[in-house]
Formats: sequence, C-alpha cells, structure tokens
Amino acid sequence: MVETTKTICPYCGVGCGVLVTRSRDGEYTVEGDPSHPSNFGKLCSKGSALGETLSEQGRLLYPEIEGQRVSWERALGQVAKGFGDVIKQHGADAVAFYVSGQLLTEDYYVANKLMKGYIGSANIDTNSRLCMSSSVVGHKRAFGSDSVPCCYEDLERAKLIVLTGSNTAWCHPVLFQRINRAKQVNPDLMVVVIDPRETPTCDIADLHLPLRSGTDTVLFNGLLNYLQQDDEINRSYLNAYTEGFDEALNVAQKTAPSVDWVAQRCGLESATVSAFYRLFSRTERVVTVYSQGVNQSTSGSDKVNAIINCHLATGRIGRPGMGPFSFTGQPNAMGGREVGGLANMLAAHMDIEEPEHRALVQTFWDSPTIASQPGRKAVDLFNAIAEGKIKALWVMATNPAVSMPDAGRVAEAIEQCELVVVSDCVKDTDTTVRANILLPALGWGEKEGTVTNSERRISRQRAFLGPAGEAKADWWIISQVAQRMGFSQGFDYQHPHEIFNEHAALSGYENGGQRDFDISALSGQDAESYHRFSPIQWPVTEKQPQGSPRMFSDGRFFTPSGKSQFQAIMPQLPANAPSDDFPFVLNTGRVRDQWHTMTRTGKAARLSEHSPEPYIAIHPEDAASAHIDDGELASVVSRWGEMVGRIRFDNGQRRGELFAPMHWSEQFSSKGKVCAVVNPAVDALSGQPEFKHTPVQIRRYQSVWHGFILSRRELKLEGVCYWVKATGNDHYRYEIAGEQLAENLPAWARSYLCASSDDVNWVELLDSGAQTYRGVRMVGNQVESAIFIAPDKALPSRSWLASLFEKKALDDSERRALLTGKPPVGQIDTGRVICACFNVGENTLREAIKKQGLTSVEEIGKCLNAGTNCGSCVPELKGLLGG
Ligand code: SF4
Repeated sequence: MVETTKTICPYCGVGCGVLVTRSRDGEYTVEGDPSHPSNFGKLCSKGSALGETLSEQGRLLYPEIEGQRVSWERALGQVAKGFGDVIKQHGADAVAFYVSGQLLTEDYYVANKLMKGYIGSANIDTNSRLCMSSSVVGHKRAFGSDSVPCCYEDLERAKLIVLTGSNTAWCHPVLFQRINRAKQVNPDLMVVVIDPRETPTCDIADLHLPLRSGTDTVLFNGLLNYLQQDDEINRSYLNAYTEGFDEALNVAQKTAPSVDWVAQRCGLESATVSAFYRLFSRTERVVTVYSQGVNQSTSGSDKVNAIINCHLATGRIGRPGMGPFSFTGQPNAMGGREVGGLANMLAAHMDIEEPEHRALVQTFWDSPTIASQPGRKAVDLFNAIAEGKIKALWVMATNPAVSMPDAGRVAEAIEQCELVVVSDCVKDTDTTVRANILLPALGWGEKEGTVTNSERRISRQRAFLGPAGEAKADWWIISQVAQRMGFSQGFDYQHPHEIFNEHAALSGYENGGQRDFDISALSGQDAESYHRFSPIQWPVTEKQPQGSPRMFSDGRFFTPSGKSQFQAIMPQLPANAPSDDFPFVLNTGRVRDQWHTMTRTGKAARLSEHSPEPYIAIHPEDAASAHIDDGELASVVSRWGEMVGRIRFDNGQRRGELFAPMHWSEQFSSKGKVCAVVNPAVDALSGQPEFKHTPVQIRRYQSVWHGFILSRRELKLEGVCYWVKATGNDHYRYEIAGEQLAENLPAWARSYLCASSDDVNWVELLDSGAQTYRGVRMVGNQVESAIFIAPDKALPSRSWLASLFEKKALDDSERRALLTGKPPVGQIDTGRVICACFNVGENTLREAIKKQGLTSVEEIGKCLNAGTNCGSCVPELKGLLGG
C-alpha cells in the first residue's frame, strides 16, 4: 500500500511542510507539501534530499555506558544516579542541560520543566543561544515580549524588502524563492541586501550595501536620523503607541549625524547609503529581515533594536507588508523560546526574574521548587564546565564540540567533565565520542510532536518510520530519568499530546491577555485531534481561534505601559579588533547544501558535491598579498585556534575579511573545524557569541603533496595531516595533503586502501622523480578504490572517476583511461555539481550553454532541469551564463 505522511522539514526555521510517501517496495520519496502555508509545495536542496538521510548507517542504536552496550534500565538509572549524586554533593547548579533547536517542543518542554521546576536550577541553555538570542533581547526590550510581528505573506505584500545579515538564498532558500517570485510578479518590489559579502542573495538585489563588518548600528542609527530629517516620522503612531523616541533620536543624531559620516564609518559609498535611506524613507510597506549576521555579534541586541527603532518611528509594524522580521536558524528555535529553553527564561514566555511568574509556573506545575535566578548561558556554561563548577552535563540533540566558539576549549571541557550524557540519534559526533553515557534518540522520521517556525506557525512533525534499534523519544528519555530521580508526579506522560496540552494550558494560565504567548485554545487535544493538527500561528485564543498572522496590529504591546519602547543605541565596536598579528576579520556561516555539523546532510551524496571541502573565501588581492593562490590550502589562525581550508577567490569578499563555513567536524575533516578559531566574545545582554568577527591571520598551508582517494569503504586516515571526507554515490571521497611524502608511495597507499594483503588487482603508475603516484584497485571489473597523489594541486577532476563507482562493470576504454582520471572519448566528465536537485554538473552545464546556445536560466531549466526545483543554484547558473 502507498502511504503518505504530512510532516515538517527538520532543518531551517522556514519550517517547510513535507510529504513523505512510502511506495509498495518500501522506498520513501520526499516532496514539498502544497497545502502547507509556509512553502506551498516548495523545498530547497536539503529538504529535497531528506529521503537520502533515512538509513540507519551511523545511527546510535542502543544505550551505551563508556562504550559498552547496556540496557535502557541500566543507562537511565545511571544518568539519574549520576545527576542525583552531583546535586546532593554540590548543589543543583553543579548540573546542566545543553539542548537544541532540533528538539520538538514537547521534548523541550519536559527538559525545561525537569531542570527549572524539579532540579531547581536554570542551567539549561540551548544551541539557539548561538543563533537568535539577540533577537529575543531586542524583541523584549522593544515590545515587552519575544514576539515576531510579521508573517511570510508580508514578504509578498511588501514594496521594499531589506535583507540584512542574511544570506537568504542559501540559509532560508524557500523564503528566498518566495521573495524572488514576488519580485517577478511585482517588478516594483525593491530588494536591498546589507551584508559585508556579495552573497548569492545579491542576485535579486536592487541595491547591495557591503558594509564593514560590525557597523550595522551606525547604519540604522543613520537611517533613524535620516527619517527625522526627511519628515517621515509617523508622529501620531509615535504618540499613541511608543515611548523613548527623543532619546533614541538624540543618540542617533550624535552617533550617525550625516550620510557621509555613516558611509565613512561603514566603509560604503555615500551615494549607496543615500539610495538606501531614500528607498526606506519613501516606501510605506517595508519588511526588514535580519538573521545571524545581525544576531551573532557582541552588539547583536543593539543591532536588532536599531532596526526595530526605524520601524517604530515610521509606524511600519503590525500591518500587512511591513515590520522587522527575524528569520530563525533552526526548525524549532521558536518552540524552544516558547517553553523557556533558554537559561534566562521561564516556560510560556514568562520571566525567571519575575517573582509572580515564578510562583505562577511553580503552582501550575505543582513542582517542589522553581529556579530563582537565570542560569548560565552557553559560553558561560561551558566555561563553568572547564572550571569544574558544573560537574554533570546532559547534551541533547546537538554537537557543541563543533558548533561553540573556541570549540577546541569546549571539547576539552566536555572531556574533563565528571559525567557527560548525550542523547542523540547519531553515534559518532565530536561530542558523543567524548561522553560517558549515550542514549539513542529517535530520528526525524520517527518522532511525533510539534515545531514552531519563524512566522510563529506551529506544525506537526509526524512519524513514518519505526524506531531505529532501541531509540526512544527525547520526552520519554527525560521523563524516565526524572522519575528515577524521584519526580514521578510531574513526568507520567504516555504520549506527546499530553505534554502539548499541558504546554498550551500553561500559556493561558492566569494570562488574561497579559502575555503574548497564548495557545490555550489548542489545549484539550486527544490523540486523534493532535494527529490531525493543522499548521497555525500563535497566539491562538478563544478570541482568535484561527490564530494570528500578525502581532501588534492594535498598537498594544506587552510592556508595563502597553507602549513599545525605543532603545537609544550607542554603536559599539566588535569585542576583538584586528591587529598587526591578526589583520583579517573572519566571518563564518553556512553553505548552500549542508546543515549544522553535517551529521545528517553529510549522508546525502548530492548534498556533499557542491562544497565537498571546507573553504576560505578571500578577495584575490588579499590572497596575492598573502602569497596564496586559488585552490591552495591555507591555515586560518586566531588567538583561539586554527583551521585549514581550500582557498576560494571571491571578488565579493570585502578586502581584509575572510569567510569560512561552519559545518566541518572531526568526523568529516582533520583540520576543518572553523569554530575552533572563533573568539568566544558574547553580547553582554543576550550572551550570543560573535561568530562573524574574529581577528585572524592567514597563511599558506605547508603541504608538500596533495591528493585524493575515492573508496567504497569508509577509511581511517590516521597519520595523514590533512583529510576531508565527503559522501559520494557508492563511495566516499577524501581530499588529502601532507607535509612529508612517504618514501614508498605504493606501499603507503596500500596501507590505507587494502582490506587484505592478498589483494593483487591494482593498476598503478608511479613517477618517483615527479613525485606522482596513481593507483586504482579493482575487484572483479569494478573500481574498489582510487588514489591520486601529486606534489601540487594539479590533479584530475574527481567526478568522472567517482561516476565509475556506480557502474557494475567497466568497459575496456574506461579501464584504459583509469590512470588518466579523464573519460575516454565519447564520455563526459560532468564536473562539480551545481544543481543538487537534479545532479547537474558544471561541465555539463557549460557544454550545453555553448553547444546549444542557451542564454537564460529558463532555457537551461528546459534543457537540463537544473534550477527548476528549489532554485538555490540559479545565481550560479547566471554566473555560468556570464552574469
Ligand atoms: Fe527545509 Fe529548505 Fe524548507 Fe529550510 S528552506 S525548512 S532547509 S526545505
């Protein structure tokens, strides 16, 4: 029987609806859900490849203690006892949970309840601290509540969209496509991109402001000042619904007195700044989208408020097509905020520092205690572990040994912590390999619960697979530990709908319209109605049973006075400035086809081919002055650590600034972990780390040989200085390099590639003088592995050799061509994958453009399908067409 399940993509905060269909032969196909109002059937490359990540390969299948498989009973007992013992000896603040925006709301709710209401500490923080906690502070300061005012429909109803600190094309691709389509329907829609880099998002920009890293507050203070001078301040809105404008304007006038001043501080042309200000000033319907480029900063909270100030000053909030709009990074960052998953929040958007709220939550939970003060935020939490103040840590569904700033120190802290528990669906991560106890959690296709996306829309994630091995739901694991710690009364859940009902009821408990987060009308679900649950935007109350697309339409805010609050923003420089020793600024972020630390997207071959290696984007002139060439390996070094990546010339980089992606871990590379380099400076209010501004130096990596391996088997490349692993179709690809060449290259190659010593079926070419070696190991008439070594990076393309792994048998011409690495006459080397959805390579595209005279992206789509699904590759297709 063919079955289709409606669920949600587990990657970014867009929250796309997904249809998973199981065919009669047991294969799963994944498509966008046309009925889901966030994506209307569209998916990006990552969502489209979800079906390729479902295998049990790499899954954590059984509980383990110190590497030994144990029963659930034993593992749960040990976790409860371990945490209980530490609490008894050292107090509740000696334990901590580090959780994740990957958890479902129900999981998150139970974790927060256990820590804050039963253990009695607030030492629960989340990796959402790393992506949007500055927005939370900004919202709360301005609105009195952590409310996102807008909805996705506003992107279609706007006349001007400002994308600031957001590479939307790669990080929120389906929203980028919505904006792109809106622009096609309405050519008058203007798009402004504010980003130090010229990213693929600039492809649809009418104006790009490549501002100097960290100067956003000057730019938006300047805008506030300009709006005043241009007489665009909405006085009636100001008087009725806001407070604090005069002070905010006063500071803006002092710190950003003129367009020229702003341009000089931000490293921009005055004409560009003027053009932006004019557009903003003259356009009523303007949405300002901001994301990690704003949040991940030591002044992230101020940047958010500098943006919100401009919307309040013009009254452009709470109405269709306008408002400040934070795009969240993770699928359930918003759900985590709703249940109080941050160390400084209580459940249901209540405040931990508010005695009334504490009493209210404790009464509702009927819990033995309630945390009385904020807990440690992520960076501080891992510092406390390093200092021995926190002695037991439970990490849920995240990988801080890769993703935290100063990640090397964080990994050391985890290693030396007395008790580290990790519940995850993946067996080997940089964090699990350092843990004492591993608890197998359900994976994406196995979980039941809810998530909330960037537009406050709650959707159901539904299971379509049975548990892998002995994996269990996170809420079940946490509840079982709680019961074994003696808290049976509050954790007797049998099904996630019971948790959802409790969460919904708490949101309405003694609320009376005083708190923004209220979904009380959704409480009282039975298992059946919870299963049928349709996507809906909170608040959902008796008065608004259909949900609320926008907030603040009535001009009423959740501050004591009911008015929104301007913030006077004094621009601050980033915490660590470049110096003679560390003259460059390192910016980190995502690539198009990978997600976080690659534990899931790293399993999909088509997602690995677009960017198979960690890279460092650098302006060619900066590279020239550092004597580094395009395609060479380089080390990026800061006071905190070092990483090695492949140099990518990029004229869209600002001079003096570098960009490197965040995804590579010790499981995928020997030296690619960029967060090891990132400074641990944080925003004083939000605790969000400064991932976008670390002073670094860059130098050529001193490798004397380069190479690659393609292998059907996964390899351990111990002793190889530089290696990076990528998943291919029926093979793994390794890029390798080293500081010393082995004396006997064939023997060295065989030591890595041969499963058995009696293997004799090798095709080899060794040129000792030229220090080159090429070897292909055959089993029968199939390629088993291939290794190519050269003294420099001049090696053949990997794509033709890689394609041979999918062949059952090679023909004679292919066998003869093996050691050239180039296809025989009549075959094409497809080249690096550009379109991941249809697996179309660069060489295929170039040839079609040339031979068939293609002149537009639409013609390419008709000819090769490339660019017709998610559209993420469209900017690159345009690049191939010549602009
Ligand atoms: Fe998933 Fe892509 Fe949609 Fe984000 S934009 S939710 S990654 S399909």
